[in-house]
Amino acid sequence: MKIMAFDVGGTAIKFGLVDENFEVLFSEEFPTDTYKDTDNMVLRAMEAKLKEYEGQYDAVGISTAGQVNVNTGVIHDGVGNIPNYNYSDLCGTFEPEFNVPVAVDNDVNCAAIGEAHFGAARGESDFLCLTYGTGVGGAIFINGDVYRGSKFAGGEFGHMATHKDGRLCTCGRIGCYEAYAACRVFTTAVSERMGKPMNGREIFEPENLKNPIIMEEIDKWEDEIALGLRNLCYIFNPSLIVLGGGIMSEELLLGHIREKVNAQLEDNYKHVRIEKAQLRNKAGMMGAAYLASEKLKKWSK
Ligand SMILES: [Zn+2]
Repeated sequence: MKIMAFDVGGTAIKFGLVDENFEVLFSEEFPTDTYKDTDNMVLRAMEAKLKEYEGQYDAVGISTAGQVNVNTGVIHDGVGNIPNYNYSDLCGTFEPEFNVPVAVDNDVNCAAIGEAHFGAARGESDFLCLTYGTGVGGAIFINGDVYRGSKFAGGEFGHMATHKDGRLCTCGRIGCYEAYAACRVFTTAVSERMGKPMNGREIFEPENLKNPIIMEEIDKWEDEIALGLRNLCYIFNPSLIVLGGGIMSEELLLGHIREKVNAQLEDNYKHVRIEKAQLRNKAGMMGAAYLASEKLKKWSK
């Protein structure tokens, strides 16, 4: 059994072939706007890869930005930044064309499923997953499955309000968690204060950690991250929270976040483990491949 897995983001589309042991046989990525002159560039890009590899896969798994009706495979919101992609019918388009089952879910949900089966949350039936990047994504994993909400839009932790009368968020509302806790907000703040563009990796280089301006910004950012996690701990009382986004591999950052969250929790919440995601940029593809393998089992019957 082989699965063609995609991970569709606003700037890049990753794809690869995964085998029956969920080993990634190969993976590549290309810019999301590779087919920008077509009616639906993401659909056309995936279609081209599915044609190129036709016969080499038994199912297709798609992890994608946006809110996804997992029963129908239709994107029904949240991808306004990708032209004409909203309302794309991924199952309805690809299943008849390629005669294989196609499973689709939101990218953070897929990342959580990937971590649950193959990564930091192996063996856990209940945990939360948050990703810190351009925004903040979230997923709720309960009783061994993603809790998706009544309209497949649950777990949008990035848009819970943490600041009354706060900053304007990209969603158009005020004071959202991601307007303070997103990695991009942090790197932008550091870059402005340092007078030069700096990415997360550069900021955490040892010589920069001696700079009081940078340390002050890191401290402020950790406080914002911890504030949202504290809220989530009181709502879900989780035993595990998995944090994704490349920058969370910084041990200094993760250690401080653990301390700051723990200091704000009462005893019955303090057992929560806060761990970094393990699958890195493969998490979405792995989760999508898992969903595709499950759909394939029913498809064959
Ligand atoms: Zn928002």
